[in-house]
Amino acid sequence: MSLIVQKFGGTSVADAEKILAAARKAVRAQQQGHKVVMVVSAMGKNTDLLLELASQVNEQPPARELDMLLSTGEQVSVALMAMAVDSLRAKAVSLTGGQMGIHTDNSFTKARIQSISTKRIEQLLDAGNIVIAAGFQGIDDDLNITTLGRGGSDTTAVALAAVLGAEACEIYTDVDGVYTTDPRLLPEARRVVVISYDEMLELASLGAGVMHSRSIEFAKKFGVPIHVRSSFSDTAGTMIVAEPESDSAAVCGAALTRDEARITVLGVPDIPGTSLTIFQAISQQKIPVDMIVQNIADGGLADISFTVHRSDVAATLQAIEPAAEKLRAKAITHDDEVSKVSVVGLGMAIQAGVAHRMFRALADAGINIEMITTSEIKISVLVRRSQAIDALRIVHQGFALHECPADSKSWTQIKAARAQRGDVESMVARLQNDALERVTLTGLAVTPNQARVTLRRVPDNPGVAADMFESIARAGVLVDMIVQGTDGEDGSTSISMTVDENDLEACEQVARDLYQRYGLGGVQAGRGIAKVTVSGIGLRSHTNVSAVMFRELADAGINVQMINTSELQVNAVIDGTQAELGKERLQIAFDKAF
Ligand code: ADP
Ligand code: ASP
Ligand code: MG
Repeated sequence: MSLIVQKFGGTSVADAEKILAAARKAVRAQQQGHKVVMVVSAMGKNTDLLLELASQVNEQPPARELDMLLSTGEQVSVALMAMAVDSLRAKAVSLTGGQMGIHTDNSFTKARIQSISTKRIEQLLDAGNIVIAAGFQGIDDDLNITTLGRGGSDTTAVALAAVLGAEACEIYTDVDGVYTTDPRLLPEARRVVVISYDEMLELASLGAGVMHSRSIEFAKKFGVPIHVRSSFSDTAGTMIVAEPESDSAAVCGAALTRDEARITVLGVPDIPGTSLTIFQAISQQKIPVDMIVQNIADGGLADISFTVHRSDVAATLQAIEPAAEKLRAKAITHDDEVSKVSVVGLGMAIQAGVAHRMFRALADAGINIEMITTSEIKISVLVRRSQAIDALRIVHQGFALHECPADSKSWTQIKAARAQRGDVESMVARLQNDALERVTLTGLAVTPNQARVTLRRVPDNPGVAADMFESIARAGVLVDMIVQGTDGEDGSTSISMTVDENDLEACEQVARDLYQRYGLGGVQAGRGIAKVTVSGIGLRSHTNVSAVMFRELADAGINVQMINTSELQVNAVIDGTQAELGKERLQIAFDKAF
């Protein structure tokens, strides 16, 4: 008998009628011959109300007590849901996280699942019950109640689907699927029929609130197909699976993190260990960092900029203050009026010129880009918050995301193709049940013979980046990493990129032409560098991965010249002569740490 997990979000259980409607879906699935596990969120805006209440009695409530409080929201829903199922004459038992054996670590408000004991759920299912599981919560070694972070019920659902070997995990929500961007922000957004795990993981991590990004880590590790669909209709939604919807599209979606903030540590020594000191302090607080840019040293000093979510600014500043002092940094500045716009797509890993399409679209609309980072399947730019929605719209239009790609494939077609290839239905989970949410590393590689070109003091005006990357593409040069960050106090920026050593001359030529045309501060070019790439799943959300990488490279006396991070990869650019040593040391460090 097959098993399905059905998850209902807050709006889908907001009142008695909706709870009954959800119960009917579960009972119907059971009548069709499935074993059914429901995962339920707190009703409506209950979690927000509880948080508000907490802040009224204490501006900084203790995290343990917050979890104690927030977990009650889901406890209310599961009890009501079990009563609703009972009223439909089906058997149901509700369970809290602790009762169903979801064990987590003890990082309150952002706990990670360590193991799930499936015995009790399985016994209840075998006895003919619909099991109703409280989302978003677990229990630590000392029996404290923990929560997984906002939106965490998705992760509970997919984790249960993974360990129970469910046929699929259905996510019932208030939209009828995953769209090319949040349809509440852009009504022209298109519902996609299929999206790959990798793309969804990046999109969710970059602001697409429809799925909790950690749920996609589980789905990918265990090969759980996720069906995102509407609680209010029976139409098919979006399948999140291993394959993408289209093989030709460079970009599958765009995301916005409205409330982003940029922090810059000015005037730190450009020597091994500097980044480590800063990012270790942040990672200890489990704060995810994005868009790390270190500009080229001026007089032996460097500026390090990075972005965090705006709500993490205070905690981040507090965390890095001692580190900055130790490094004798000149100053720490921050700007919390910025937003991050990103595009994601598997196609861009193999297609050239995707970045400049994005920069050109923004430039034509007069929107200035304040910071750029690229990774294998994503490009992120920072813009003024007042221009964020315009920027999102323009980028969405620029990649014609409202149009269905000509080679769009349905889930049925993908399954047929799998069968023809003789693929096994799901990936074999390589993990033990006692290491569920541990970081998964899948590879460590060195790309030798790279070169770097840096343009200093680029005027901070719309269009410069677009012109630059268009000229470079015209010269037939394939650019790999791009980072742009602030360069000094006059608002100008510096743009660095890596290219293959063979392309260095051509790229340098273009850079020198641009130098003339724009009156740039300078062009620096260097060959003999290498890129070290760590691949895995959920690398950004596990904040310690870059910390381990920085520590190991620093201990080996290796300076990190450029870095980018994503959920799928962390890339560090280092001196080519140290590449093999770097790889060896990282291999040992990762074997030990993860
Ligand atoms: P639930 O309470 O069911 O978990 P959420 O509010 O967490 O629901 O997620 C659903 C919401 O996610 C939608 O109402 C939509 O506004 C938002 N959203 C953000 N990005 C996307 C996207 N790319 N596709 C669909 N919905 C999105
Ligand atoms: N109730 C929690 C929240 O609002 C968890 C969830 O809904 O996924 O964040
Ligand atoms: Mg949600």
